[in-house]
Amino acid sequence: MTLSILGSVAFDTLYTPEGNREKIPGGSAFYSSIAASYFTNPILISKVGGDYPSSYFKILNDRNINTENIQIDKDKKTFHWTGSYLKNINVAETLDTEVGVLAEFVPTLNTAAKSANICFCANNDPVSQRQALEQSNAKIKALDTMNLWINIMKDELEKTLSLVDILFINDTEIKMFTNEYTLLGAVKKIQKQFPNISYIALKKGEYGSTLYGKKEDEVFTSGAFPLELVRDPTGAGDSFAGGLLGYLENKTITWQTLKEALLFGTATSSFTVEDFGPDALLNTSKEKIEKRYLTLKSHLSI
Ligand code: AMP
Repeated sequence: MTLSILGSVAFDTLYTPEGNREKIPGGSAFYSSIAASYFTNPILISKVGGDYPSSYFKILNDRNINTENIQIDKDKKTFHWTGSYLKNINVAETLDTEVGVLAEFVPTLNTAAKSANICFCANNDPVSQRQALEQSNAKIKALDTMNLWINIMKDELEKTLSLVDILFINDTEIKMFTNEYTLLGAVKKIQKQFPNISYIALKKGEYGSTLYGKKEDEVFTSGAFPLELVRDPTGAGDSFAGGLLGYLENKTITWQTLKEALLFGTATSSFTVEDFGPDALLNTSKEKIEKRYLTLKSHLSI
């Protein structure tokens, strides 16, 4: 049993207060899968163009990430996202999106991908997310999204949200989606509109995250792992979700394991932001993640 992850596999061009990078490897499913690979052997579902280097496939395969569900269209280009964090380190500003092969992406899950324990739709258009969720036999279905889809495909996103158990969303997006001005007001509105959503993992950038269950006392907050230098926040949300779901994949889901998972997701994503692209995430270890998990846990006790 494993975790299947749908989302983008991309080139990223990035501007942060610590410098710029051009056409480095990225993508929502790329980051989520690498993060999850510290806990399980994920199956990545995506599409790339003929320009996607085989060395990037090797990065994934070397970590036991299954890439059989990545379609390749040799005549088209890989998705390329250009983002800036110069105005606000917590908010990615999209400067350009070359959709490339993802414009015509219809996911086809093989038997292994269909039978994964958990199916996670990392950020991608809500139609391809729904197509994957409809093929999946997972016990737990989770989804992440972004402001773009709330702005241009809200109806499709709502249809897709009716299929998920766990929603990952950030603070500005949940307010935008619900037209509420408090976070709890927004959480309550989502819970009412989508009774199928059992848990909401609310991401708050450098301020950490909160997990909301349906019971009144199911609220768990952690700060982000304290770091003095954030070189590139790209992929933080994806790594948070990948680490959280990777940790949960072979566990019984209880409020206790969910709280542990939130801290593991937080610890995993703290490595991602320490360097540009996936470099720091790739160079960490399960031991280092566990050490940060224990530090985060100690910060929560009095
Ligand atoms: P995060 O920083 O975790 O929110 O996600 C950043 C990643 O999302 C980058 O590596 C981008 O390639 C990817 N991304 C940005 N926009 C989109 C989009 N419209 N669809 C799919 N992936 C995207």
